[in-house]
Amino acid sequence: MTDHHRTSLPPSRGMSTTSVHGGEARQKPGDAITDPVFCTSTYTFENTQAVIDFIEHKLPREEYGRYGNPGQRVVERKLAAMEGAEQAVLYSSGMAAIVGLFMSRLNADDEVVFFDECYHRSREFCVKHLSRFGVVTHQVKTGDFEAMEKAITPRTKMLVSESPTNPHLSCIDLEKFVELGRRHGVETMIDATLATPHNLRPIEYGVDYVVHSATKYLGGHNDLLAGVVLGSAEKMLPVANLRGIMGAISGPHCMYLLQRGLKTFELRMQRHNANGLALARFLEGHSRVEKVYYPGVESHRDYEIARRTMHGFGGLITFTVRDADWRATANVVDAVKIPRIGPSLGGVETLIEQPLIMSYFEASPDDRAKWGIADNMIRVACGIEDTDDLLADFAQALDA
Ligand SMILES: *Cc1c(COP(=O)(O)O)cnc(C)c1O
Repeated sequence: MTDHHRTSLPPSRGMSTTSVHGGEARQKPGDAITDPVFCTSTYTFENTQAVIDFIEHKLPREEYGRYGNPGQRVVERKLAAMEGAEQAVLYSSGMAAIVGLFMSRLNADDEVVFFDECYHRSREFCVKHLSRFGVVTHQVKTGDFEAMEKAITPRTKMLVSESPTNPHLSCIDLEKFVELGRRHGVETMIDATLATPHNLRPIEYGVDYVVHSATKYLGGHNDLLAGVVLGSAEKMLPVANLRGIMGAISGPHCMYLLQRGLKTFELRMQRHNANGLALARFLEGHSRVEKVYYPGVESHRDYEIARRTMHGFGGLITFTVRDADWRATANVVDAVKIPRIGPSLGGVETLIEQPLIMSYFEASPDDRAKWGIADNMIRVACGIEDTDDLLADFAQALDA
């Protein structure tokens, strides 16, 4: 039975046991230890009575692939157990999850307030597209709760943030965030993609909606796209219903990959965290590095918040190269031998990029300054390679 008043479920087992076994049937079709991949778009009924039983909710089963598939149900149960949420709703990408949640929750004349370091595509969706349906978007400086409170009006429906943010790794004080939302009767949403349920537990703080791009650490192998929204069963029902209309759902093959990736989730996170911390400390001590953005080092603005609320600090690090123009910075990016140049994060392979080039090449210098994107900035998404190999590689690249 679902308790609609309880939104955070106590974890009954450890994270790794949950990510390996959670949500799965003990005995599976064909007596296999793995779940099957059902390559089908539709599901058949034995007779008319079976159709009627299904419609009357007497027979839980699949009907048509746009509404769900067996693999996706397993992964949703697993992710809900890992997050400590009642319900998970999976999508074909992280952005589909964010769009799906906003479309299901927001009506004409509603307002949303964003912390401004949120993923730029989610802000773009609200500013450029939800505005066409009469939704008003406010953006305030990340972590400025006074500004966020001032932006709240009687029409405000949702407060939105990411934590940590990308590429500055700002961390949000979730107690303040939830308190602000509750005091004004406004729902809260956190995009916790960079943290994962291993490092941050937003539902336990009372956040209403947690979103992840499962493309990143949850899938973990740079080989799939998926997204998820998690929350109470009551809040997730209309979200899941709209997904069935949008059709923004992954197919059975992708769900198999995600389930397989999740089996090693905690092991991978331990190495991502270890590599992130070790590389951040190494970079801080290097004479060619000007500034390191990583919530696990004391010099970071939000170190105290991160230390208090996070189990680990993840694999993403941003740093600036001392006295370097964009070209000298690019030379460092080009000199590393292990990381591959590319966007994204959270996979086993370390990725590196210069935000100026990869994401802000067409932005104006004014906009880049506003968003804090410096020419000499490098973003590293640590994979799970051996820590010593990564450190040695960055040492040779910086000394080159
Ligand atoms: C990648 C990412 C997204 C978008 O996810 P996709 O799976 O690429 O659609 C949203 N938020 C954050 C923080 C991300 O890193």
